[in-house]
Amino acid sequence: MADENIYFPDIVGNDSLIRRLSKDISENRLAHAYVIEGIKGSGRHTIARQAIAAIECSARAEGKAHVSLPCGRCKSCEKILSEKSPDVITVGLEEDRSTIGVETIRGLKEDIYTAPNDLSVKAYILEDADLLTPQAQNAFLLSLEEPPAYIIFFLICENSDNLLETVRSRAPTLRTERLSSEAVAEHLLKHDSRARELKETSPSEWEEIICISQGSIGSGLELLDAKKRSRTIEYRNVAKSLVAMLGRSNRAAAFEAIGAFGTKRAEVCRQLSFLQYAIRDLLLLKKCETSPLCFFERRDDAIELSTHFTAHGLLSLYDASAVAMDDLEANANVRLTLMNMMQRAGLV
Ligand SMILES: [Zn+2]
Repeated sequence: MADENIYFPDIVGNDSLIRRLSKDISENRLAHAYVIEGIKGSGRHTIARQAIAAIECSARAEGKAHVSLPCGRCKSCEKILSEKSPDVITVGLEEDRSTIGVETIRGLKEDIYTAPNDLSVKAYILEDADLLTPQAQNAFLLSLEEPPAYIIFFLICENSDNLLETVRSRAPTLRTERLSSEAVAEHLLKHDSRARELKETSPSEWEEIICISQGSIGSGLELLDAKKRSRTIEYRNVAKSLVAMLGRSNRAAAFEAIGAFGTKRAEVCRQLSFLQYAIRDLLLLKKCETSPLCFFERRDDAIELSTHFTAHGLLSLYDASAVAMDDLEANANVRLTLMNMMQRAGLV
């Protein structure tokens, strides 16, 4: 019996998503498209690839019961999971673009009529599907509605609200979960020797990584890379000193804070996202001093810092930083954007 198989043993957490996918696979009732929604680094791509591998796994084709799907060892699994199958195609944002336009979808619409090479399905992983323009989504609808039988789409996104209702109604949404810090730590320790080494040699840095990962295995893996880690810790420290400066609530401090940001857009965006984590912690502390924190490791310091802000001030700063991040994504000038942010937050 197919449903006696163990599905997705390598995916951590995400029980309801796994239940849905394994049911669809074991009952041969796969949809032509799934939306996989969740934060970056929450395993959305891994889940898509694992699902394709589970469909194609030779253990499934041979009707073997009581085996794990995907097995991870057969030829199909190996090809799909190591990203070597020509029948699993990733489509995403082109360089220097902030949306996915209708021309990308036109190319895809022709491509789907070429039969798969060696798999029984041809799968498309659409990255950043929430950045598809409405025109692109409309162009995509027909492919979604009546694709060739071998086609399956995975629409990866952070927020499915940005997809048209007509698209969403044709593709069931699978949401990835934010994992607990413990689950992230356990997964990294089990699968990555760098994690085991770091925990051994530098326990405080290891704990910081788990804290910064915010329940995302993807972020955790990235932070195990020493170079990326030092940059992230640097951004985080900038955010920490920014909050301290802004807590002084005067013009001079606000200007000093503008000077403390980096100069490159991507860098400033990262610093702003850490600033938002800090603000979120401070807001939570305003409500309850025992709230779980995701940015500050030292609760006492954070509680002290929170007394320098009003809840209203924190909310304004949060909103202003969100606008600043949008502006930067739309290529606005860095200094000007930061200045506008301080004005919007009422700090200058
Ligand atoms: Zn297999």
